[in-house]
Amino acid sequence: MTEEKNISSQEDSTKSTNGKADVVASQFRPWHIAALALFIIGTIFIIRRNNTPIPFQKEEGAAFGTFYHIVYQNKESLQPEIQAVLAEVDCSLSMFNQQSIISQINRNEDVVTDSMFRRVFALSQEVSKVTNGAFDITVAPLVNAWGFGFKHGTLPDSIAIDSIRKFIGWQHISLDAEGRLHKEDPRMVLDCSAVAKGFGVDVVADMLRSHGVSNFMVEIGGEIVVNGQNPQGEKWKVGVNSPEDDSLSTSRKLQTILPLTDCAMATSGNYRNYYEAGGRRLSHTIDPHSGYPVQHSLLSATVFAPTCAEADAFATSFMVLGLDSAKQILSSRPSLRAYLIYADEKGDYQVFASPDF
Ligand code: ADP
Ligand code: MG
Repeated sequence: MTEEKNISSQEDSTKSTNGKADVVASQFRPWHIAALALFIIGTIFIIRRNNTPIPFQKEEGAAFGTFYHIVYQNKESLQPEIQAVLAEVDCSLSMFNQQSIISQINRNEDVVTDSMFRRVFALSQEVSKVTNGAFDITVAPLVNAWGFGFKHGTLPDSIAIDSIRKFIGWQHISLDAEGRLHKEDPRMVLDCSAVAKGFGVDVVADMLRSHGVSNFMVEIGGEIVVNGQNPQGEKWKVGVNSPEDDSLSTSRKLQTILPLTDCAMATSGNYRNYYEAGGRRLSHTIDPHSGYPVQHSLLSATVFAPTCAEADAFATSFMVLGLDSAKQILSSRPSLRAYLIYADEKGDYQVFASPDF
């Protein structure tokens, strides 16, 4: 009896289950199939889109009297944003731009500096202090005197140089609380060329980071910031030029190629911008203490620093200071590293590289 009951209840339950299945089948309409198909296609599309690699963009152009090359991974081009930030740097620091803040300062006009100028000014003054005046943004009148001499075949004599040196000196300029620059002598002229390119690289790199870009290489006139990976998924490969005199050639020989990431680098070299006069190679880097173009065994200084502006300023400073003083600064400032190419007594190239290279 009990067994029968059990069997019948089992049958009942089977029936009722079949009944549910019938109801479900009868409710399944063609539009359900369409919706399901749409859902599956949509899911595949999203998965495929997420798997499509984000492309690398490439931008090139002119800035600060030189060229820039920028490679970065982003869905769309950020060229308008790049041009906007470079224009901002130009309006603040370019001596080629007659309306820039630095040009107005150089004409002794009443101008309140902007935050870009103040950042570059503060860094320049700090580097002047650390290098005991080897780096000096007031050196322009000497650069001009030597440049004029080069171009006209007559070099300035020591009397001319001494009279110009009276109004050279980073200690004789300061910014007041309102951001106005004060000169102790109205003949003083500022020139931030030795740091502005590096600063421009930093500003573009910061703009890219603010757009969420993490893989990029920004280069302006040889000053570089690299971040993350290159399009091949590796470190960026950055060439250091050989300081060889091949000014007639359009492409330069490379001394070495460094695999780099997440760093800023700048190079100064006496092969980059110089004149031959009286059998001597006169570079555009001036020793503010002597008033003369630098001449020593250091041929090229590539510096790595937390920011490209700092790397740029120290690369120029090292060219003024020479090998031994550059090494001293490197050992007292662990955040700086360098790759220095110099000539030994026989005139052969030698390299000094920071230990962690
Ligand atoms: P580059 O990258 O072309 O080698 P630098 O960064 O070394 O250039 O800057 C060189 C420029 O800096 C010169 O053209 C001159 O305008 C300026 N300059 C020259 N001597 C000094 C100096 N001692 N301190 C600061 N700026 C200098
Ligand atoms: Mg420099």
